[in-house]
Order: sequence, then structure tokens, then C-alpha cells
Amino acid sequence: MRTIEHIYIDGRFVEPHGRELFDLHNPATGKVIGRVRLGDVEDVNAAVAAAKRALPGMARTTKAERLRMLEALHVAMRSRVKELHEAVLDEYGAPTSRSVWMGDYAADSFLVAARTLADYPLQREIGAARVAMEPVGVVGLITPWNSNAGFICNKLAYAIAAGCTAVIKPSEMSASQTDVVLRALHEAGLPAGVYNVVNGRGADVGAAIAVHPDVAKISFTGSTAVGKAIVRASADSLKRVTLELGGKSPTIILDDADLDAVIPGVIEAGFMNSGQACIAGTRVLVSESRRAGFEARLKAAIETGVKVGDPRDPSTTVGPMVSLTQWERVQRYIHLGLEEGARLLTGGEGRPEGLGSYLGGYFVRPTVFTDVRNDMRIAREEIFGPVLSILTYRDEDDAVAIANDTTYGLSAYVFGGQARAERVADRLESGRVVINGAAHEPLAPFGGMKQSGLGRENGVFGLDAYLEPKTLLGARPA
Ligand code: NAD
Repeated sequence: MRTIEHIYIDGRFVEPHGRELFDLHNPATGKVIGRVRLGDVEDVNAAVAAAKRALPGMARTTKAERLRMLEALHVAMRSRVKELHEAVLDEYGAPTSRSVWMGDYAADSFLVAARTLADYPLQREIGAARVAMEPVGVVGLITPWNSNAGFICNKLAYAIAAGCTAVIKPSEMSASQTDVVLRALHEAGLPAGVYNVVNGRGADVGAAIAVHPDVAKISFTGSTAVGKAIVRASADSLKRVTLELGGKSPTIILDDADLDAVIPGVIEAGFMNSGQACIAGTRVLVSESRRAGFEARLKAAIETGVKVGDPRDPSTTVGPMVSLTQWERVQRYIHLGLEEGARLLTGGEGRPEGLGSYLGGYFVRPTVFTDVRNDMRIAREEIFGPVLSILTYRDEDDAVAIANDTTYGLSAYVFGGQARAERVADRLESGRVVINGAAHEPLAPFGGMKQSGLGRENGVFGLDAYLEPKTLLGARPA
């Protein structure tokens, strides 16, 4: 069993000041597979100091120099994607296809940020003024466990594109994945202090970054509750804050959709990343008149086609929940759905059958409730597991009203004839709307409306968020 003893400060792997050892689990077996030594507030102070020392040099780098850094990071991360894939399988349990995607996403983040920077005007003429887009300063990057490596790389890529330096606080539950990323980043040979990584608990290391006076901006991905705590903690130093938070996304099946054709898309939207996805389409809206036909198809497709179990088996589509805590949370919500009077279409409490040697794993039965009202807690709160709710609507206006009746607004899915689907998409209060299963666009802004977040990541909007415009009057054009 391996113990990860180091964090990364000022270009070196160092032992943290913190002494706590934290167990890492394989969620498919429930067994402890390693331990990580967690950092503490002193480690945060050392990391911020290193990032602050490195900032003047980094802020002066040219666009060409930053592009070279991003290219080096991409190459280094690309050489480790297989290793990352293995770490994701062991420590997080994402099914193989998802684990592979996660490795690719982490490596490709640097390329997408480089493409964004290449076309981005860092100097602009606006009227009589010259406007210089300057790095915001030292940034704190805080990531969750459901795509830890991807969020580290994506946030760091845009920080570097902007000329910022960073202190990264990965999820404490993802230390093996962080370790692979860290060794890759180190090989890229960036100047010392440009990025620093402190493993630790949210309540101490995360909170210390959020209040630190020398941190100018926080980019956080995680739960809405912690996002709000970060806004409060960062208020005294008026940090810039980008928050990517939770969701309760609607999947709307319009009356002109082909029911057979949409089922795979509904399942993919709902159960992606084993249901542990902020953008999961967990409220499925179908018209009253087509409900019976839709339910029969969905039930049959899940019971015959959605395989839960060993994440290394390529036919598995839903892996374990990340932890026992998360498993128990999902179980509580399934129990609550029954108490609230929703009807089980498929799934339910407990572990699925046929797990064989994986009985100790944190597996959940893929579950669909029907007869769900939008005021039930299972329709309002983020469950973060493979649990869907079917709600019915009378007409298009009713569908839009139900879809928008949520405190969240991260993602939405619409299936139907093109013109009608676009008309409905225009009316949804959501940071993004996916029409008929269209593919992700990494250059487009990503983020949520309402309590799903603040600001946007990715592409031009994501880069903007790491920059401050400085207006120069009387200066010569750049
Ligand atoms: P979490 O909010 O519990 O933790 C996220 C990170 O914040 C972790 O690194 C944690 O240690 C840290 N943290 C905890 N308390 C903190 C504090 N007081 N100050 C600073 N940092 C603190 O979330 P999680 O359980 O790791 O991840 C699941 C949540 O993340 C879900 O709600 C999900 O919707 C959300 N999420 C959102 C997106 C998105 O892009 N919108 C993507 C993935 C996950």
C-alpha cells in the first residue's frame, strides 16, 4: 500500500507541514488502497508565498512564452494519460470509457487554452485608450473528486494562459490522480512557483486559500453549499470568484421526438459519470400523453442495457459511487423518494444483484422514479448518483415552466424536431442547452445560471476571468 507523502511548492516535491494521514479507497471494492499526507494552513502560506514570488516573472511573459508553456504541459500530460486512466479506475471507479475520456480531457485542456490564447487580444485599442489585459494575480484553484485531474488541468491551463500563478487544492479523495498529474506537470519544466499543489481538507486548506489576502481570485468547482462559503470567506479581500456548482438539469422530450431514438441520449445524460455529474439530466420531462410509451421503453432499456459493476469491464456503464458517504447519501434520497410518494419504475434501495466479488463496492441500483412532482425534494435537490425523476407536462409552455422551476441552471437537454427544440432551448434558464445529443464544445463558455455558479470557464470567457483590463490613456498604441 502506497503513501503519498509530498505536496508541491516552489517547483519541488516537499513533505507537508501537516501530519494527518488520510485513507484512499478503491470504491469498487471498498478496500483501502493507499494514504495521503494532508497539508495544513502553514503549507498554504508557503504555497501562496511561492506563487507570489513567481508572479512578477509570470505576469511579464509574452503570449508566445505562455503558448510554449501550454504546449509543454500538454506533451507532458499526454505522456501520462494511461497512468492517469489507471489511477481514475482504482481511486474513483469511473467505467473504462469514462476513465479514458477523463485522461484525454486533462491533457487536451492545455491545447484548448492555447488555441484560445493564440487568438486572444491581450492589448486592445478602445476609443482613445489602450487597454491591457493583465493577469489578475495569484489564483486559488479548488477541485472536486468527480473529475479531479480534468479540473486541475483545465483551471491551470487558463491561469497560465493569462500569466497568473496558482495554488491548487485538489480533492483530498483524489490524491493518486493528483499525483499522476503533478509528476506530469513537473516534467514540463515551468519556472518554480508558477503552480503549487497542497493536498488537504476543504475546511482547513481550502478555507485558508479562500481567506488568504495574497490570493486575488478563486476558481472553484464543487457543491453549491461550499461555493457560498467561499464567497463569504473571500469577501474581505474582494477576491474575484468563479464558481462551477451543482445542477438539477432537465431533459425535455418534446412531442415530436422519436421515443426509440431518444432513449440512449436520456440514459447517457442521466447516468453519465455513474450519475456523479454536475450536468446530469436528472429531471426527465415527457408529455402526459406519451408518458406510458416512454416509461416502458426507458425501463426496458435500463434493465437490459445499463450494466453496473466492475469499472474495468468495458461493458460496464455505471461504476460505483466514489465513497461510502456518497453511497449512503444516494440511498437516503431513494428512500426519501418512496416516502414522498414517487413510484419506482426501476431500481430502488440497496446494492444491485450479481456483483460477485465486488460486493464490498459502493454500487447503487440505477433508479428511475415516476409520478414525481417538481416540488418533491428528489426533484429539487442534487442527488449525485444514478437516480432519475420522470415528470409530466401538459404542453410546451408547461414543460418550459417546470424545467425553469429550479434554483439551478447549469445544463439542459432537449430532444425533438430541430425547430421546436431550438424554440424551447431559447426559453430555458440554463448555462448551456444540448439539443438532440450534440457533442461538447470545449471552446464555448461553460458555467451555470442561478445557484449553479458564478462566471464561466473555457474559451474566451474562461480566459477573461483570469484577467483584469487596465485602461491606459495617453499611451501609444501597442
Ligand atoms: P465539495 O463542495 O464538497 O468539495 C469540492 C472541493 O472543495 C474539495 O476540494 C473540498 O475539499 C473543497 N472544500 C470543501 N469545503 C471547503 C471550504 N469550506 N472552503 C474551501 N474549499 C472547500 O464537492 P464534492 O463533493 O467534491 O463534489 C461534488 C459537487 O461538485 C457536486 O455538488 C457537483 O454538482 C459539483 N460539481 C460541479 C461541477 C460544475 O462544473 N458545475 C463539476 C463537477 C462537480
